[in-house]
Amino acid sequence: MSSDSRGTGDLFVIAAASGTGKTSLIAALLERCPTLALSVSDTTRPARRGEIEGRHYRFIDVDTFRQGIAETRYLEYAEVFGNYYGTARDQVEQHWAEGRDVLLEIDVQGADQVRRAHPDVCSIFILPPSMAALGERLHGRGLDEPEVIARRLDEARREIGACGDFDWLVVNDDFERTVDELVGIVNAWPLRCASQYWRVGQLLDEAANPITIKD
Ligand code: 5GP
Repeated sequence: MSSDSRGTGDLFVIAAASGTGKTSLIAALLERCPTLALSVSDTTRPARRGEIEGRHYRFIDVDTFRQGIAETRYLEYAEVFGNYYGTARDQVEQHWAEGRDVLLEIDVQGADQVRRAHPDVCSIFILPPSMAALGERLHGRGLDEPEVIARRLDEARREIGACGDFDWLVVNDDFERTVDELVGIVNAWPLRCASQYWRVGQLLDEAANPITIKD
């Protein structure tokens, strides 16, 4: 854990247009960074084949989600493709309490909200190597109907247009190299000056007030 003086861990956001390979990249990143915990989002979207309640998402109904919004239960939330998705505050806080850093896999609207609530968040955007590669991947994975794919591509263009708001851009043109880059970012983030002050505070005090050695 790279906890700061407040005793909380770091917060990472990864966003990408769907079809960029984000889910596989994040799985590999989590294997290599054991202090990092992936927050499980709430969604009103129906579960896809193979998705497990509480592991991929917490699948809830629209009324429950709206009640959560009214009770400010969400650190951020967004409506994506006609469904609600949100990060419950208690998810993040529980991971921090357990001494973990937290990773949110969310869309660009959610990333915006998190940046406002937590200006010290580390935000990473994953880009596809090209729009053609993204289109091929969305068709190839066979998850969605053609009109859904067309909508996802439109959405992808919009999301990619917002990538300039992120701290880091990573292009997924080679899986292993992209994972290496993500691990590099996660490992380097706690070393930035603002995070290090609490850790090196005593040394800085000593440097500012040299001890006089008597002979
Ligand atoms: P999918 O339905 O393919 O799992 O996700 C659709 C989009 O919703 C993806 O861009 C994904 O990152 C985003 N998403 C998933 N969980 C959350 C969340 O908690 N908040 C927000 N804002 N977006 C989310």
